Amino acid sequence: MRPQDQAPIALLIDDSPYIHRLLAVKLKDEGIEFLAAFSGPEGLELAEVQMPSIILLDVNMPDMDGFEVLRRLKADTRTMGIPVIMLSGQAKSTDKVMAFELGAMDFVAKPFDVHELRARINSAVRLTQLMRLLENAARIDGLTGLWNRAYFNERLEAELSVAQRKGGPISLVMCDLDHFKKLNDTFGHPAGDAVLQGFAQVLRQELRAYDIACRYGGEEFALILPGATIQEAAGVCERVRANVEAKSWRKYPKLAVTGSFGVTASGLSGLNDAASWIEAADRALYAAKSGGRNRVRLFDERLGAEQQPLRMAG
Ligand SMILES: [Mg+2]
Repeated sequence: MRPQDQAPIALLIDDSPYIHRLLAVKLKDEGIEFLAAFSGPEGLELAEVQMPSIILLDVNMPDMDGFEVLRRLKADTRTMGIPVIMLSGQAKSTDKVMAFELGAMDFVAKPFDVHELRARINSAVRLTQLMRLLENAARIDGLTGLWNRAYFNERLEAELSVAQRKGGPISLVMCDLDHFKKLNDTFGHPAGDAVLQGFAQVLRQELRAYDIACRYGGEEFALILPGATIQEAAGVCERVRANVEAKSWRKYPKLAVTGSFGVTASGLSGLNDAASWIEAADRALYAAKSGGRNRVRLFDERLGAEQQPLRMAG
C-alpha cells in the first residue's frame, strides 16, 4: 500500500479490452494511476509486485474467475490489505453476497458510471488509509513515534521466520541510553523526554526504510535489521552512537548523552527462538555497559551465561 501523499494506483483485472480502454482514459483524467492485467494470474502477480492502492476486479473471466482471484488476494498476507472493488456484468445478489463474504470492499455493476466509480475508488482508498492509521496507532510509542514493544515482539517473530525461510542474514540490536536515570534526576523529566525523542530521531536518520526501530521500554530500544549482517548492523550502530554523542541539545546545552549497543545476528550459535535472540543481544548490551558504556559490542558465545544481563545497569 502506497503512502498517503502519492496519487493512488488502481490495478484493473478484467479480460475485456473495452473496459481497459474506457477506464485507462477516464481514470487518468481523474489523477488515478493505472495498471492493467487481462487475466487473474497476471493480476495476482502485478498486485504482489506493485502493491496498488486499490484493485478493480472483474467477476467473469475465463480460466480464473474474479472470486478465485479475490480468494487468493485475501489469503496472501502481502496483498490481503489492498481494498478490492468487484466489477460485474450482472448485479445478481448472490454474486454480491459472495464478493462481500470473500472480503471485497465494494461491488459495482457494469455498465457503470465512471464518475461514480471514481468516487467509490477514492472512498475505498481513504477508508483503507484510515483503518491502517488506527491499526498503527495501537502499535506506536506515543512519545517517540517509534514502534512499541508489542509490535516489536510480533515483528521479530515474523522477520526471523522470513530470514530462516529465505536463508538471508538478519540482525537484532538492543540499545540503552547511558545513565538515563541520573540524567532525569539532574535535568528533569522534560529533558529526559527530549532525549528519548532526539535519540529516536537519530535512529530514523540512520536506519533504512525497511529496518524496524522500537522503543522496548524506558530508555531501551530494539532494532530489527532484516538483510543486515553483523558487520553491517555494527556499522549502523556505530553511526548512531557517534551521532548521539555529537548531538547538541538545543534546550539543554549542558546535556551530554551517550548510548550503549548490543548486536547479534544470524549465523551465531544458540539463536533458536525470538527469546534467545533477545537474550543474546541483551548480553552484548550488558558487555557494552560493563566495558565502559558509549560503545557497540557484538554478541559472541564467550559472553557466557555467567554474565547476567542487568536491565538496571543504567
Ligand atoms: Mg469479463
